[in-house]
Amino acid sequence: MIAERTRPAVCTACGQQCGILVRLAGDRVVALDGDPEHPSSRGFICPKGAAAHELHYDPARVHEPLKRLGPRGGGRWQTISWEQALDEIAARIAELAARHGRETLAYGYGTLHGADWSIGERFMNLFGSPNGVGQDKICYAPAGLGEALTYGFGPTFYTYPVPGVTRCLTLWGMRPSASMPLLWMQIEQARHAGAKLVVIDPLATREAKRADLWLRPRPGTDGALALAMIEVLISRGHYDPAFVAARTEGFEALRDRVADFPPARVAGITGVPAADIVAAAEMIAANRPGIIHAGNGVCQSGSPATQTGRAIACLVALSGNLDVPGGHAIAGPPRDVIANGAAIAVGALDPVQRAKRLGGDRYPFIGAGHADVDAALARRWYGQQGVLAWMATAHEPTLWRAIEHRDPYPVTALILQHHNPVGASPDLGAVRRALLSPNLELFVSHDLFLNATSSLADYVLPAAHWLEKPFFSTAFGVLGFAGDYAEAAQAPIAPEEAHRSDYDLWRDLGARLGQERDWPARAEEFWNDCLAPAGLTFDGLAARRGPAVGEAARDPHRPPDVPTVGYGTPSGCIEFRSRLMESWGLDPLPGWSPPALFAGAGADFPLVLTTGGRRLEGFHQHAPQQSPYRRRYPEPCVSLHPETARAAGIADGAWIAIETPIGAVRQRALVTDAVGPDVIHADRWWYPEGGCAPDDPYGVLAVNINVCTDGADASCDPVFGAWLLRGVPCRVRALPAGAAGPRPA
Ligand code: SF4
Repeated sequence: MIAERTRPAVCTACGQQCGILVRLAGDRVVALDGDPEHPSSRGFICPKGAAAHELHYDPARVHEPLKRLGPRGGGRWQTISWEQALDEIAARIAELAARHGRETLAYGYGTLHGADWSIGERFMNLFGSPNGVGQDKICYAPAGLGEALTYGFGPTFYTYPVPGVTRCLTLWGMRPSASMPLLWMQIEQARHAGAKLVVIDPLATREAKRADLWLRPRPGTDGALALAMIEVLISRGHYDPAFVAARTEGFEALRDRVADFPPARVAGITGVPAADIVAAAEMIAANRPGIIHAGNGVCQSGSPATQTGRAIACLVALSGNLDVPGGHAIAGPPRDVIANGAAIAVGALDPVQRAKRLGGDRYPFIGAGHADVDAALARRWYGQQGVLAWMATAHEPTLWRAIEHRDPYPVTALILQHHNPVGASPDLGAVRRALLSPNLELFVSHDLFLNATSSLADYVLPAAHWLEKPFFSTAFGVLGFAGDYAEAAQAPIAPEEAHRSDYDLWRDLGARLGQERDWPARAEEFWNDCLAPAGLTFDGLAARRGPAVGEAARDPHRPPDVPTVGYGTPSGCIEFRSRLMESWGLDPLPGWSPPALFAGAGADFPLVLTTGGRRLEGFHQHAPQQSPYRRRYPEPCVSLHPETARAAGIADGAWIAIETPIGAVRQRALVTDAVGPDVIHADRWWYPEGGCAPDDPYGVLAVNINVCTDGADASCDPVFGAWLLRGVPCRVRALPAGAAGPRPA
């Protein structure tokens, strides 16, 4: 029997970065436990983290580079070496770039990468293409950008409560018991210490059931609700006039704006009784300090998304909860560690190429407006450039159109990394058409598995699981964006088979395309370079078993080198009226109008669809592939209220049709009062056991709700193009008795 040993590591199966102990028998991982000595997670591990090695050892993993044989999506592959794959891919990229310009190469990244996620942005900047796309637009960036435009850095809503100090917590479109369990534990502790809990969510979540006050707005109406709560604060005098006079601008204009959103009117928009709107505002006002956590329920609402983030940011500031102990901590980027834009070499991208970024012509923050935000932030945050580069990526729905129609120019080469847009992105039909288009002359997927997206690629490269990678982080998860913060851990195991990390792929591809000097031999050496200004090393940091937190985190509001600058906005004030929004020709005040799809939907689509509610066992598009999730949730389900089911003649457990103006799918009905009578909630789904099939890869077109969501410009947020996944007009229809889902054998 082989003796077991343990190795400390950091889990990156989601963004919480729990400290874990990896149990090894020889070189094989046999179990994962929580690390009781880790300072933030203190022994916690969730079912998804505890089962991460099952995903790593899943027999369906891709172990060798694959090259397509026959037509795209036909499921026939030839195994080749990494050297051959990279030689051929590099030669093809060089040829296409010579023909069409460097912007012809696009790159997209998803989640579950481990610590080197998004490092491909560095390759793209060095290569000279502006067309990296991330999931920022639908993952916290609308709320974070709303904060950045209002008070100069975001997100602050990751701030952890301080038990005994924080007196009120508002969870707005967020389910941390499933998505951020460490935060949820801290919230529970604050609750036990007396903090109030306000939950704003259309679904009866665990959080909603424990709340002191639960507001249940229609999906997509959160912006109107926030404006009504501001109206209550102002009309009832629940704000500090001295603070408003000294630290803000645009108060009078905000007051006039919210006068159009009194609770009585907003009750009709949101479905939340006016008395509850007043009660929520009063509860926040009477229990300072507090934190308003804005989640993806807010960020995935399409056209209203960033303005909703702005409204909530104004609510945070006006309610006196900004930059106070126990409230929202304004803590900027790491001061001494090279991170954000500097780490991904944003300065290397030629401005002429930067101006070609897809979506930049229509969405100011993707285009030239990004430099305005950057300049405002740099005044406050140590002169750093590209602090919010992660939000200013190219617009993914525009990418699919550019590929299919060569508009505004040909995008002929695409590399996707741990990204499954034929499942995760809106209007899946459009995504699939783009990936099967002959205009796409090179399609490479670097992934753990064959799935609905990678099965359509020309080359599939075997990715390393996070257990096979070293860990490094300067933000997110444990402490939020808390100033000088860095954490590292050695890789629990070496890469197995021919698995290769993201970093190693870009290093080796870069070496073939003129970037030989830009990529240190190992990721740990690259991170050493990032840590050097702070006097830290990767090995030294890893040996600490927990994060290093610097001076700027302890006194974030007054770093010694910028004593006179207030907030990272053009005025240096909290801007209720945003100078940047005005300069971009957009509404400078937080506002709300209904998503465009509702204008034409009328009585044909009487219900509102929301999607993608999180479960602790899963993480985004990877969920059905993860064994704890799969065991518990074997099929795609749509939740609908008993009244709705009765009216449509739908029985619990039956397969039904869900239809929106964009498309239609089938899912199994779950009749429950967890949703209101006018709302349904549907799973995003795909079948891991399904196969390559160009007509319906892995069952997505039959069952994945993103067939029914929208990435058209009219449904996207005008600031940076956040697309519409939640708050879609819809209807449900019974299928003939005995109708079954299309679950593959
Ligand atoms: S909460 Fe996230 S980081 Fe923590 S154990 Fe679970 S999956 Fe891992």
